[in-house]
Order: sequence, then structure tokens, then C-alpha cells
Amino acid sequence: MGNQQKSIAIIGAGVTGLAAAHRLRALGHQASIFESSNRIGGVIETVRQDGYLAECGPNTLLETSPRIGELIRELGLEDRKRYANPEMKNRYIVKGAKPVAMPLSPGQFLTTKLFSLSTKLGLLKEPFIPRCPADKEESLAEFVFRRLGREFLDYAINPFVAGVYAGDPERLSVQHAFPKLYALEQKYGSMIKGQILGARERKKRGTVSKDKAKMVSFDHGLQVLIDGLGQSVESSLCLSSSVHGVERSGNHQWKILGPDGSKSFDAVLPALPTYKMTDLTFKDVSTIDLSQLREIIYPPVASIVMGFKRDQIAHPLDGFGMLVPEVEKRNALGTIFTSSLFAGRAPEGHVTLTSYIGGMRAPHNALLPEEEIDRLVLEDLEVLLGLKGKPAFVNRRVYRHAIPQYVVGYGKHKDLFDRLEKDHSGLFFAGHYRNGISLSDSLLAGMDVAERIDQFLNKS
Ligand SMILES: Cc1cc2nc3c(=O)[nH]c(=O)nc-3n(C[C@H](O)[C@H](O)[C@H](O)COP(=O)(O)OP(=O)(O)OC[C@H]3O[C@@H](n4cnc5c(N)ncnc54)[C@H](O)[C@@H]3O)c2cc1C
Repeated sequence: MGNQQKSIAIIGAGVTGLAAAHRLRALGHQASIFESSNRIGGVIETVRQDGYLAECGPNTLLETSPRIGELIRELGLEDRKRYANPEMKNRYIVKGAKPVAMPLSPGQFLTTKLFSLSTKLGLLKEPFIPRCPADKEESLAEFVFRRLGREFLDYAINPFVAGVYAGDPERLSVQHAFPKLYALEQKYGSMIKGQILGARERKKRGTVSKDKAKMVSFDHGLQVLIDGLGQSVESSLCLSSSVHGVERSGNHQWKILGPDGSKSFDAVLPALPTYKMTDLTFKDVSTIDLSQLREIIYPPVASIVMGFKRDQIAHPLDGFGMLVPEVEKRNALGTIFTSSLFAGRAPEGHVTLTSYIGGMRAPHNALLPEEEIDRLVLEDLEVLLGLKGKPAFVNRRVYRHAIPQYVVGYGKHKDLFDRLEKDHSGLFFAGHYRNGISLSDSLLAGMDVAERIDQFLNKS
């Protein structure tokens, strides 16, 4: 039997499922994608209204691998791709109720007001601090405190983690949430030495670290990528098709319970969040028990895009945005200066700011009534950016379950996916719950799992 006749079911049309289907198509397979909602893209959605453009969820895609650029080219979206304005390099951290620019050079590091002299001098000791024993799993906070000290944890790592994971460094596992950082210590014995030596190895591999990767969006936002992927796999899409279970059928095949249970598939890929995956029933496969995945925490996050006249804000907005350390006791986790990064986000003479609220730090904030969320965000913008007056535009989106937290002990979930794939031929797992939480991680995971599915189908 040739490859073309083999069948694949993908559950979920977020970027992971879409990227997997697109890559499978390039490899000569046509997958069926079952998506419960009536639109594709999962947590990604761009809204355009009154001359403003608002990203409901993610704002930027990091080009961490040349494969991301290749994918964009394959989709014919190269001329619609936009890099973030390279002049907007500043990243502000709030300290003493003021945004302070993160140092971008060793010279700036020596003079920055973000860190005290003892923290700066402490960095010189970092290469001599011993590794964490291999049998101990540390939280990110333990790791950073041990190597760089309290102030670095409070004013660099805590706000950074709020910006990436909406997470808490005391809970996140350095090994699972920041595997590259963990590997630097294990391999080189030091983050600083590892940064320098690791850069040479990345250059050889052609990959780029997340802090150096270029930030990408599109002329009309990330929706362009979703629409491009959607067009590529259009004939495979089954929208409003909620899957509630998977059944083992004869001849090593799988049936999808829910939309149309009659067809059998050679391979199945659940590319949906784990809090939905645990609702799936696995019929005739008593050895598949996903109940432990209920422990995975997806804290709620609200994303609020506000549009203002430029002259309502005193701050120059000359950078990516500002992140707020927990010790500063403010309301939002941080704010992206969206219209400074990408053109076309606001009408002439106006700006947009995207603030995030909730996360592990204050989950209840994300679930407050709309007007209360607005009040909390505006209060921060007034104090920190010198905002005067009300927004001309507001777009709010509450993600009741936003981003999975790779906490200490997360390895047992990764082990479960490894075990299930090994024990059940034709069953594959990929996505934000396994391969990293970012958009680029999800795209790469989708493309990688497609390659693995292709190899499996070629062998079977
Ligand atoms: C608020 C927020 C901001 C973010 N910001 C960034 C950022 O700026 N940069 C970045 O790199 N990453 C960011 N991320 C992370 C990034 O967006 C995700 O990692 C990525 O989009 C996950 O894609 P996915 O396909 O794995 O999952 P999802 O997008 O969750 O897609 C899963 C799909 O499965 C469907 N589904 C669920 N249950 C079923 C069922 N039973 N049957 C059929 N279909 C089902 C869902 O409807 C959904 O479409 C952000 C995430 C959030 C929530």
C-alpha cells in the first residue's frame, strides 16, 4: 500500500495541528483535522476594528530556527512577514514604580539602576558556583538564587517568567521549563561560560537562542499565518467537530469518536490542550490512562489591548514593552508597546498597548468583571507610563486556561507521552504541553511530529 492511502487524524486545529497537517501534506499525506470550534488557530486570533489591530493571544513569533522562515516561504507569506522594528530594543523592568531599561551591553550593566553593586559583582562568581547535583530537580527560583542571587531573581527572572509563562519561578522546573538554561549548567558548569560557548554551537547548528531570535508578525497580524496554514490544508479541515474519544479498531487502526465514527485512521495525533485531552475516552485501550494530566496547571490570563492618542502617554514607548516584578506589587504582569513594534497596529497619531493580567501570580485578576480588569490595567498605565485619560479602543480576551506550567515534576507527564507512543503504535503527541510553550515551539513540534508520522507510515 502506498503512503497516499494511509490516513491520519489530527485532533485540534491550533498551530500545532495545522503545522503537522501542512508538513504531512508536503510529505504526500492528507490528514483529517477535527476542530471543535468553528474557527482555526486555537489561542491565536487577530481582531481588526476602527483602524486598530489587536492580537487576542500571542503577539510575536520568534524565528528560532530557519525552518520557521522556510514554512513562511512555503505558505507564500514572505512578503507579508514583518520583523519587529529593530530600533525598539529597550525592554523595561519596573523598579520603584518606574520603568527602567534592561542593560543591553556590559557597559550598561555596570551603570544600571536595576541591580545593586553586590549583585553586579556577584556575576563574577557565577562561573565558580558548582552544578546542581544531577539527581535533584530544582525550581527556576532555586537555580537562579543559587547562581545569581535574590535581586537577579526578583528583577530579571521573575518578570521575565511572568512575561513568557505567566508563571511563578518558585514552581517552574528549570529542567523542563528552561531546558537550555539547565543544559548550559550541566554541560559547561556555568551560565555565563555556556552562553559564550553555546553560541558557537548554535551557530554551527543554524539555530538561534530565544533571546537573540528575530521577532516576527505579519502585515495583518498572526492571523495571516493561521489563514495561510488553513488554506494549505483546507480540504482536510473538519470544523465544529468536537472529538470526545478515540477507539482502537482492528488492524492497528484508530477510530475517532464524535464527528464521524465510521472512518479508521492509521495514525492519530491529539494536538489539543491537556485539560481537554483528559476528557477524551480511550475505548478498547485500557492501558491508556491520561488522568495524571489533570494535575497540569493552566492559569487564567486576560489580555487587554488598549488604543490611545499618542499624546495621552508621557512615556516614549521606545521599546518592546515593560515587565513587572512581583515584588513591585502592581496589577498587570506586563505591557507590550505593540504599535512601537509593528506598523499598522493603530490609526495615525494613535498607539496600542497590550497588557496581560492574572497568571500564576494573581489568577483571580484575570476572572474579574471587564470594567474591573480595565480599571486595574489603566491604574498601572497611569502610574508607570504617565497615561492621561481613557482609551479610544479596548479589546479584551480572557483565557480561562492559558499556558501550561512546566512545574517541578513535569517530567512524569513527558514520560507518559513517551510511554504511550512506544506502547501504542500509531498514537502521537505533540504541542505546547510537551515540546515547549511558545508559538515557535508549537510550529516546530507540529512539523517534527509530521516527520515521525511519515516514518511510521512508511514502515507499517
Ligand atoms: C494569552 C497567550 C499569549 C501568548 N503569547 C505568546 C507569544 O507572544 N509568543 C509565543 O511564542 N507564544 C505565545 N503563547 C503561546 C502560544 O500561543 C501557544 O504555545 C500555541 O499557540 C499553542 O498552540 P497549540 O496548537 O499547541 O494549542 P491551541 O492553540 O490550544 O490549539 C488547540 C486546538 O484544539 C481544539 N480542541 C480542543 N478540544 C478539542 C476536541 N475535543 N476536539 C477537537 N478539537 C479540540 C481547540 O479548539 C484549539 O483550536 C501565548 C499563549 C497565550 C494563551
